[in-house]
Amino acid sequence: MKVPFLDLSRIDIAIQQRLINKLDQILKAGLFSGGPEVSLLENYIREKLSSNFFISCANGTDALELALRGIEIKPDDEVILPALTWVSTAEAVIMTGAKPIFVDTDENGLISNEWSKAIGKNTKAVIPVHLYGKMAEMTSICSKAKKYGIAVIEDAAQAFGAFQKGKAAGTWGDVGCLSFYPTKNLGALGEAGGCLTQKNKLRERITLLANHGQNRRNSHLLVGRNSRIDTLQAGFLNVLLEEFDLLQIKRKNIARIYLEELMGIGDLILPKGILEADHSAHLFALQFEKRDQLKDHLSTKGIETGVYYPEILPDMPAYYTEGQFDEARRISRQTLSLPLNPWLTENEILEIIKAIQTFF
Ligand SMILES: *Cc1c(COP(=O)(O)O)cnc(C)c1O
Repeated sequence: MKVPFLDLSRIDIAIQQRLINKLDQILKAGLFSGGPEVSLLENYIREKLSSNFFISCANGTDALELALRGIEIKPDDEVILPALTWVSTAEAVIMTGAKPIFVDTDENGLISNEWSKAIGKNTKAVIPVHLYGKMAEMTSICSKAKKYGIAVIEDAAQAFGAFQKGKAAGTWGDVGCLSFYPTKNLGALGEAGGCLTQKNKLRERITLLANHGQNRRNSHLLVGRNSRIDTLQAGFLNVLLEEFDLLQIKRKNIARIYLEELMGIGDLILPKGILEADHSAHLFALQFEKRDQLKDHLSTKGIETGVYYPEILPDMPAYYTEGQFDEARRISRQTLSLPLNPWLTENEILEIIKAIQTFF
């Protein structure tokens, strides 16, 4: 038996057919940049997340960079971010000329409560990352940031559709960044992303930056870039958004089965809060001291797993920074993600659980 971590060729035939119909419809309309599919997507997401504004863009990494340029980051400004995250979070900071200040995480991989100790006179922003889909404590982060007069940019690339205290991931901060990379819990059939914001000033600036600084044809108010979303991807996302809630229920159900069946086995640490509203169940990331042994065991049983992420950013040569990152480093050594997606079969889920039980 072979259980893939995520096999996107398994998207339900009925959904595939609707995606093909959408392609057909866009081909017939002959509009491949901008157009009604893009406005439809932007409105759809605004409404779904109760956000004042949503600006689509080319991908989640661009969304982070646009957000930073949106808040007018300057060279030598500092931006605080967790040591354990996907590389984009730090990459975007450096691309704007600012300096990433890495801080440790808590035991769940979220930015440590102590992050505000890293605030200095050059600190411009903090980027909490909702890692694995679990939202960081936004009330506390936003109130500290407000106290020190710094901006909050949420990296919500893994947390689409999560809500904390009734407020969506990405709508707490000055800007919230989304990614629709195909493997995310809302994934396009290619690259796409966007920025949520509640402030009209930021909406205006980010909209300009993502489209050559252009307010109308041949008038360029800012040095921007081309980070427009692809119309086809916007169209596909409009189809996939209609399925989103149902697919999330399937993810949560699988997460519930894992929790019930794996509770108390060995010293596995199961993901906290994965069934709560403020977790998108993007990944089922457990922690275990003998992670590599368990991973190898599952692999011999044909079960693919993932490691997010095997190395923390400040330990990589390109991002090398000294500091105290013990917890983030521990997680990078102990985290293991089990397959968690709506296309897993019941049989596969049972196989995964059985294989873990036989390991112990
Ligand atoms: C996926 C991801 C991004 C980047 O999104 P892309 O669309 O792949 O550019 C940024 N941050 C985190 C935490 C991510 O998981």
